[in-house]
Amino acid sequence: MTQFNFDNSYARLPDRFFARVTPQPAPAPRLLAFNAALAAELGISEGPSEEMTDIFAGNHLPIGAEPIAQAYAGHQFGGFVPQLGDGRAILLGEVVTDRGRFDIQLKGAGRTPFSRGGDGRAWLGPVLREYVLSEAMTALGIPSTRALAAVATGEDILREDLRPGAVLTRVAQSHIRVGTFQYFAARDDQEALRILLDHVIARHYPQAQNAEDVLIAMRDAQARLVAQWMGVGFIHGVMNTDNMTISGETIDYGPAAFMDRYDPEQVFSAIDQYGRYAYANQPNIAVWNIAQFATALLPLAGADREAAITRFTQIVQGFADRFDAEWHAILGRKLGLGADHPAAGEMGLAFLYHLARRGGDFTRAFRALCDGGTAALDAELGTRDDTALREWGARWAAETTPDTRAQMQEANPLRIPRNHQVEAMITAALTGDLSKFERLNAALAAPFAPDPAFAEYGAAPLAGEEVTRTFCGT
Ligand code: AMP
Ligand code: MG
Repeated sequence: MTQFNFDNSYARLPDRFFARVTPQPAPAPRLLAFNAALAAELGISEGPSEEMTDIFAGNHLPIGAEPIAQAYAGHQFGGFVPQLGDGRAILLGEVVTDRGRFDIQLKGAGRTPFSRGGDGRAWLGPVLREYVLSEAMTALGIPSTRALAAVATGEDILREDLRPGAVLTRVAQSHIRVGTFQYFAARDDQEALRILLDHVIARHYPQAQNAEDVLIAMRDAQARLVAQWMGVGFIHGVMNTDNMTISGETIDYGPAAFMDRYDPEQVFSAIDQYGRYAYANQPNIAVWNIAQFATALLPLAGADREAAITRFTQIVQGFADRFDAEWHAILGRKLGLGADHPAAGEMGLAFLYHLARRGGDFTRAFRALCDGGTAALDAELGTRDDTALREWGARWAAETTPDTRAQMQEANPLRIPRNHQVEAMITAALTGDLSKFERLNAALAAPFAPDPAFAEYGAAPLAGEEVTRTFCGT
């Protein structure tokens, strides 16, 4: 029998933090993917089995599970929604391992009291997209929720047309979001805010003493996270406050995508009409979200409200410096200058400027410089007499050493989950062919290591292949 080492601390919080729910059974569950390496990390020794399939489909509850849907609110595209909550996600419980405590959540396992008009289901496309992207992010060294399993439910669900239903088993340090704090702040429930803060301190920031410490730690974690996203050309696509974790893990890959050609204004999400969540706007949105977090925490900041507002405002404003420091360090590593090089930010931003001007592929341009210096970069971008770039290249050569250049390979992936490859994988999966899904996962498991067998994933899309639109996938 499958054993999960459950200890469900969130389910022990007061009733108003969640609703107890029962997953809706899937009529004919079929296991599509099982992440054996992650399972082992979670202390789940058993391989895929019929019982496991039933667990990941929501048809069978493992011993110790206490299924709940968590309550939260959130700003969606800037507008506050006082009640969102898990409308199609069900937390089975928390597994305790020697590496920490992890939520095991079924996404797409049926309706909950927070479903509003929705069916509580997910379809195959977004489930496989999240599986691939969240595991790829992890392999790139970027904090993320993870994917333990994907099952097909055997039931078609209605979107624009009928699509095969699926459930993703998501693993996270927790699913507590900025929106979780906002939910109680909007209700002026200070007791709940205090309980939630204590829970977050115990779980994510044990060194923190109070709300202010948590705000600072969370701000720093997000500054680092967004800089890491930008370092691989990642565009989250829907950075609503309900999709920003307190732990600093990337969550919710609905319209998420990696860009091919570098364009700071790139947007993939079909619903992001005004570019709110465009690539280069992500730090601005992060700080906006952190300001919402600070606002929600304010009732816990002590009796002198004016003084607390002043301090919290300074902390929020401090994001810009934190982000710049992280971003410049990443650019310094990507360019082989080293994280602490005083010109890392200046030279990095100049490089990006040239890249945008030349329409270069983000991943390939950095990697070309890394593997073959300025000659390879020229070949990658296409020959042209480009004085400004030549001058930049001369300076780059002067500022780097063979030693620092050798380290570039660890900062510049060869392979990312390119959007056209992800779409092709989904199209194949819809015909029952999971070979592209499996190959993509294999190719992205070690994204920095040269591997001729996976050469196609290092290539930029041809003119007609580019996929520049993604959908939220609800
Ligand atoms: P998301 O866009 O996945 O971050 O979801 C935003 C909100 O919509 C959350 O409260 C979700 O639980 C809810 N939601 C999304 N899709 C569905 C669905 N198919 N059924 C019920 N609720 C949903
Ligand atoms: Mg969400």
